[in-house]
Amino acid sequence: MKARAWLLLFGTVAACSGTAVHAAKYSKPKTHIKIAAQPDKSAFTTDCRRPDPQIAQKLCYLRTDFDPKDLFHNGDPKRGTCKAASPNQKARVQRALDLAPEYVRKRLFCMKGIFLTTGGGFGSWGLWEAPDSQKGNPDRKPNDGKGNNRLFVAISEDAVKDDAKLDSLQVGNLANLLHVPGQLTQVAHFESADDPAWATLAYLAHELGHILVGLSNADGSDPNHPRRNANVGSGAPIDTCFETVFLDGSPPIPPDGSWDKNLFHTPLNMNRFFKFGDQGTNKQKNISFILSDLTGDAAKANAALLALYQSGEFVSGMAAVSPVEHMVVTFEFKVLADAVPLSGMSKPMIRPPASQAMLLNDFLTMTRPKQRQVDCLARLGMLTAP
Ligand SMILES: [Zn+2]
Repeated sequence: MKARAWLLLFGTVAACSGTAVHAAKYSKPKTHIKIAAQPDKSAFTTDCRRPDPQIAQKLCYLRTDFDPKDLFHNGDPKRGTCKAASPNQKARVQRALDLAPEYVRKRLFCMKGIFLTTGGGFGSWGLWEAPDSQKGNPDRKPNDGKGNNRLFVAISEDAVKDDAKLDSLQVGNLANLLHVPGQLTQVAHFESADDPAWATLAYLAHELGHILVGLSNADGSDPNHPRRNANVGSGAPIDTCFETVFLDGSPPIPPDGSWDKNLFHTPLNMNRFFKFGDQGTNKQKNISFILSDLTGDAAKANAALLALYQSGEFVSGMAAVSPVEHMVVTFEFKVLADAVPLSGMSKPMIRPPASQAMLLNDFLTMTRPKQRQVDCLARLGMLTAP
């Protein structure tokens, strides 16, 4: 059937893994990039008349036969049995919501559902069901079709365990992506982030980031992007910074941008349905972090990671999977940096290889590429509470 609403999904894990950058090499840029934030709700156009501050109490396990791609055949994720999460799991999600910056917390209150999944680290996804889908989804009531988006998030149960640790999950997920478990040496580590709520927040933020890319149509400048199809009705993004900051960059200042623009602008890569780790034919411009070349080879993977951190362009190896992941993982890091520690917690630090630990926020502003990436998220309205 013709998918009239594009779903946004992705397996993925809170991909923050390390972030490393050599502090010595990147002193603070002299030119300060102004954040020309244009708060615009178009990055969150979902109609949220009934935000639910108690959403964590409704946390439950996703039915095991649900595949986000089958929304139009099998209906809502919640149909069927939904095994309630444990009190501890609910409390963990609640704590992550309490910790989250307002622009994340308010959006998560507007989810139609937050679910847990089993099956390991890559079993998380964010799903955006566009307003025009009521004819396709058997569970969607006619009233839902009046211009409302519907949003769902599912995160791995690994992220809400009593012993969940942001650092070990991030490093472990990256190692699993590269098929070199336990062998990453050139990777950044999180510090002062042992409370499990940091891990939970990272996973939630990551999947919310995917939803926001969909809602803002951030990567949809190309008229041939499938979301620009008249049936779908998504217009051009309010800001073209995905093209100029994450892709190929543009004059006048330096050869900016991190990805081959022409490769991204192909039907294969302008695709909203993909599984985590699917790089398509995307290629980075200034480094070589091609998963098929690195998987299973610890020496190569570590060398590529070191170059990645030295480039100052990527917050982690997870961000180098694809241009969209790049944007999403940068959002995830920004959320962690903006979170307000609860009593007994402190701001998370990150320690890139061969470098001192630093505040996450300093890490995000210490190179010009990362400054511009965060600025782009702001321009798209992603860092503004709806
Ligand atoms: Zn992702």
